[in-house]
Amino acid sequence: MLNASGKLKIGVSACLAGHLVRYDGKDQRSSVLEHELAPRFELISICPEVGAGMNVPRPPIQIMQSRAGIRVCEVDDHAHDVTQQLQRYAQSAIAELGPELSGFVFKSRSPSCGIDDTPCFDEDGLQQLSVGAGLFTGMLMKRFPQLPLIDEWKFEQPQQCRAFLRRVREYAKEKKINHR
Ligand code: SF4
Repeated sequence: MLNASGKLKIGVSACLAGHLVRYDGKDQRSSVLEHELAPRFELISICPEVGAGMNVPRPPIQIMQSRAGIRVCEVDDHAHDVTQQLQRYAQSAIAELGPELSGFVFKSRSPSCGIDDTPCFDEDGLQQLSVGAGLFTGMLMKRFPQLPLIDEWKFEQPQQCRAFLRRVREYAKEKKINHR
């Protein structure tokens, strides 16, 4: 969880860190993240979709509830199911990086990165049934249920940002990670 300079490691959705990885080829740079986190922590940028081998740009995807369970498919072509591709990457990335991290800042509403506000549609992809976690975030939460998570909207609220950073340091302490 500490890098060579003694900084705790925090995961970030790569688009928030300014990487051009979104489905539309753009980023979603967060200046608050840049100013609040980058100087004090080592940021580990992860894009679960690009990590899983998807292109930039790429067709947008969405989460759907089918009789067989949750599926992640292209919005305009439900036959193109990327669930297993995303799960395979998430499983290996979480196993490798999860133990290193003291927190994670995620992009809200994303089918991969949302924490609690990602829309889930019916099996025709037309009607929104609920909101919840994106696929990567959901798998991370199952594997590391205590890991502090926050989305970029909450992170930009000073009070919530301070509370998140407090939880990050407490988590590192509980896990007996040396930190400054
Ligand atoms: S998968 Fe996550 S990191 Fe990648 S572009 Fe979407 S929101 Fe950003």
